[in-house]
Amino acid sequence: MNLHEYQGKEILKRFGVGIQEGRVAETVEEAIQAYHQLREETGTEWAVVKAQIHAGGRGKGGGVKLAKNESDLREHAGNILGMMLKTPQTPGGMNGAGKLVRKVLIAEDAYRPDFDACKEFYVSILMDRESKRNVIIYSTEGGMDIEKVAEETPHLVHKEYVDPALGFQSFQARKIAFNLGLEGKAFKEMTGFITKLYRAFVGVDANLFEINPCLKTADDRIIAVDSKVTLDDNALFRHTDLEALRDISEEDPTEVEAKEYDLNYVNLDGNVGCMVNGAGLAMATMDMIKLYGGEPANFLDVGGTADANRVANAFRIILADDRVKAILINIFGGIVRCDRVAQGVIDAYNQIGNIHIPIIVRLQGTNADIAKELLDKSGLAVQSAIELKDAAELVKKALA
Ligand code: GDP
Ligand code: MN
Repeated sequence: MNLHEYQGKEILKRFGVGIQEGRVAETVEEAIQAYHQLREETGTEWAVVKAQIHAGGRGKGGGVKLAKNESDLREHAGNILGMMLKTPQTPGGMNGAGKLVRKVLIAEDAYRPDFDACKEFYVSILMDRESKRNVIIYSTEGGMDIEKVAEETPHLVHKEYVDPALGFQSFQARKIAFNLGLEGKAFKEMTGFITKLYRAFVGVDANLFEINPCLKTADDRIIAVDSKVTLDDNALFRHTDLEALRDISEEDPTEVEAKEYDLNYVNLDGNVGCMVNGAGLAMATMDMIKLYGGEPANFLDVGGTADANRVANAFRIILADDRVKAILINIFGGIVRCDRVAQGVIDAYNQIGNIHIPIIVRLQGTNADIAKELLDKSGLAVQSAIELKDAAELVKKALA
């Protein structure tokens, strides 16, 4: 689950990590109010207006603007709220449609009073599967595209692995602060920042923390100016308070609907809809589709109990994507009997009505032959097969 910048910063603050202070707003009036409150709290006249969408690179697309007074702020908030913000990370990139901005963060100007005395760093924490450890990635080259830094100047990107048995050690915090070229107060601030950041990462069961830029201010404090936080969905049950941070307007609507039906669904770009029971079989089915010249339009695991209702919901979700030119249903009947699934397909088909793309069903396992007979006799425009390669051939024909 991805969070907005302002939500990520709230989590950091809870763990005592220094942040660029700010308040979120949904209207221009709220933005002005936030600005006044912020001015009282921090004494800052200047503030930044930051678009809150689930994508980075907002600065490049005009989604981060500095306001030097109230009238600037009114103007920027008015422009950014409601805009379709295009960044290199929104769908289709800078040439795509962009993402609608529904909220802005009004934040103190963290670079005051001396912009040139500030220094931007890059800090992220993630799970490294190869070493089976959390890794802290950091660089003196903050504020810019880290992929580019890694490609052009790899020696400027450092990695610090954390032993899961020992946890994050204080010498590691000092090593990081040292490699970032800090001394005196800023050095101490950085060791505190990293230590608390790591505690927060583990504390909320995050998959990713990316702080870019992490800023050394003119008065040598270390704060997070940006935050990208991804939480581990599989650990959310341990953090019911964090579940409320989900912003479904930022998520793929069909994926949200699928989640409501308890279907395991991921939207893809292809033309063949897939309905499969079991994640492994779903992957194998997608490979088979590709082998026969099709492109899977989705990953969909309907789970072990593929009854009529689940099949009908899955049908509806697949059919909502108008790029789908054929549907391949591939079910292995182990615990669930194939004839019951076949009946489910027939019921769902009748329930939805006017399905006008070819549907190929491959059922294998318990009662597969009875299932095939049921489908063949149903009078519906459903083609059935027992071998997966026969089914893939039928898909190929359907696409031709
Ligand atoms: P991103 O473009 O989506 O990564 O958004 P960021 O939060 O990283 O902001 C983009 C850039 O805006 C930063 O790299 C900074 O250079 C600039 N910026 C952010 N906050 C401030 C601020 O408080 N004052 C000033 N002067 N610039 C800021
Ligand atoms: Mn950033």
